[in-house]
Amino acid sequence: MPDHTMDVLIDHATISRRISDMARAIEADLEGETPILVGILKGSIHFLSDLGRHLRIDAEIDFMQAKSYVGTESTGNVRILKDLDVDIAGRHVILVEDIIDTGLTISHLVAHLSIRSPKSIRVASLLSKPDARKVEIEADYLGFSIPNEFVVGYGLDFDERYRNLPYIAIYRRSSD
Ligand code: 5GP
Repeated sequence: MPDHTMDVLIDHATISRRISDMARAIEADLEGETPILVGILKGSIHFLSDLGRHLRIDAEIDFMQAKSYVGTESTGNVRILKDLDVDIAGRHVILVEDIIDTGLTISHLVAHLSIRSPKSIRVASLLSKPDARKVEIEADYLGFSIPNEFVVGYGLDFDERYRNLPYIAIYRRSSD
């Protein structure tokens, strides 16, 4: 018997349509501007690439990488492994994230970047697990709200595997 199951939660066509809608919403808010799309590595890779290709306004792309160490139920420390290469002062920034779970990572990144005087900071997240939230933060542009389950695919991994899948699947250990 396999040690885990994977069930498709959101298929590729549905993801593509939703990302296209999100691009339209961003265009409406930032018409005539050149935002910087900041992909949060590694989980945002497919989402960033699709969102960027759907956008009909000019945009720059940069990356950050963060690691979250959750020490207790209610606190988490976020360490920046890779910071931005570009100066964001006076610029519109859109953080592009795979999933907001507790909210610790994205709220730390927003705080970290806010002190560099950007014109605005927005958050685009493909997924959100509202039931897992420990700090109050919501995406300005959200793909899908999902149940509090561990998901893989479309950039999201389990031990670095499954990031390449073109769909989102719920990953469950068989013993769970
Ligand atoms: P947060 O700081 O919001 O708790 O977590 C954000 C990060 O945790 C995400 O960027 C992602 O890397 C990881 N994460 C949270 N939930 C899941 C999940 O269901 N599947 C996977 N693969 N990663 C997750």
